Amino acid sequence: MKKKSSEKCFKITTCRVCDSKKLKTILDLGDQPLANNLEDSAYSGDKYPLKQVQCQKCKTVQLSHTVDKEVLFADYMYDSSHSKEFIKHFESLAETIVEKYGKKVDVLEVGANDGILIKPLRELGLRAIGIDPAERFCDNKTIFKAWIEDFEQQYHNKYDVIIGCNVFAHIHDINKAMANVVNLLRQEGTFIFEVQYLGKMVDGGLFDMVYHEHFFYWSIQSLAVMLEKHGLYIDEVEDIETHGGSIRVYAKRDIDLGMEDDIDMSDYQTRVREKLFALNSFFASQEHVIIYGAPAKATVLFNKLETSAVFAIDDNEIKQGKYIPGTGIIIEQSPNGTYWRNSDATVFIAAWNVADSIIKKVRRLGFKGNFVIPTNPPQLI
Ligand SMILES: [Zn+2]
Repeated sequence: MKKKSSEKCFKITTCRVCDSKKLKTILDLGDQPLANNLEDSAYSGDKYPLKQVQCQKCKTVQLSHTVDKEVLFADYMYDSSHSKEFIKHFESLAETIVEKYGKKVDVLEVGANDGILIKPLRELGLRAIGIDPAERFCDNKTIFKAWIEDFEQQYHNKYDVIIGCNVFAHIHDINKAMANVVNLLRQEGTFIFEVQYLGKMVDGGLFDMVYHEHFFYWSIQSLAVMLEKHGLYIDEVEDIETHGGSIRVYAKRDIDLGMEDDIDMSDYQTRVREKLFALNSFFASQEHVIIYGAPAKATVLFNKLETSAVFAIDDNEIKQGKYIPGTGIIIEQSPNGTYWRNSDATVFIAAWNVADSIIKKVRRLGFKGNFVIPTNPPQLI
């Protein structure tokens, strides 16, 4: 039986990390469709509240509502290997792991997606397996179907390195997931994870990075509290460029460097409001805009912006012919060179974290006009 949207979503009453009831609203984006579940027709899907709250005790920024994970990830369209940038990123991470820990290590990747990291790790000779909840990624040899928070006994081993890239924002039951990570990690092992960084989000008013599968928006301070609950400490933090500004964290048992960042949330709402105003003014001032890229960010952006655009271009074939949820904007493949050479449009890059490669690609096709990325004010290139 089909569930009603109210049955597929619940409001949290306590912090997901520390159980405190003191949750303060910091940004309310209203009801929004699921950003990554592209639709087969215009305006067909359910909408759910999209609101960020901050725990006043442990400082963790998180969503006020949890959409059922089977609903959230049922039609998950995100294949990492469609992006050259991500392939390069994970090849370099595999090399970093070899440099730091050698090749004689057991590695487990949580949220292995289409094997974008497992593949280079195995090519370098490491014993690496992954888990992922999406059936279509699992071959039962190197990638197994599982949620980390329900990780099954049959895969239990102890690992020297456990990795999770862009998954530790996506797990509602973070304490259960972390208990499993700790249980699977050898005494001297390292837990490496990459998450979007709250500081970048607040500085840039990056509201289009907020979506239903991102339950958490981590600062180093809030990560330190969460990890410490599970006996882990931050050993090292690196800035990385993926997803518009992320951090890679290396956590181990029994080390405490006392790292902290105290992020001032007070101007976040104002920055988002100003950015919305600037982007709406931009769209109102342009006669002909082409949207390039239909990532989750585009869903959030175009559910908050007013635009007359009726289509968006995305090079990922599985997205083509579908609609950006809640917008009626259809996703199409890139037009040919003749179109681009004669186009007087401005190209709005919704997938702004990979703007460089989009600009190169469209310039190669002969486009001479302007590009714009959704900063405040919108940046013309
Ligand atoms: Zn808390």
